Amino acid sequence: MQSEEWWAARTARLIKNEESFREYNNRRLQQEPVPLDDELERIPFVCECGDFSCVQAVIVTASEFVEAHSAPNRFMVLPGHVFADVEHVVARNEGYEVVEKIDMDVDHLWRVAGGVDEQVS
Ligand SMILES: [Zn+2]
Repeated sequence: MQSEEWWAARTARLIKNEESFREYNNRRLQQEPVPLDDELERIPFVCECGDFSCVQAVIVTASEFVEAHSAPNRFMVLPGHVFADVEHVVARNEGYEVVEKIDMDVDHLWRVAGGVDEQVS
């Protein structure tokens, strides 16, 4: 059986991982020479799932990317790259799914996890 600390550390890391990929993708989009509503140019983003070892590409247009991130707790992942204890699928599309994060207090999770180094970014 896993402890509450273990669960909190895992969950907090998972969320941080997804947020950092989302930020990365946002920067990527800003560098693309296309308008945000472009529906033609397919851009390779990275999967925003919580799996640290996942570096697979999600190839979508700028318009699809913006649409997928219509709320701050929404992330774009490859089909099946879903962690059911922290998120649920809100849209299934060709080649990618949009997941919505269950509302959680990440700072609280870090405190519960205690001793976990969060200075990684
Ligand atoms: Zn993934």
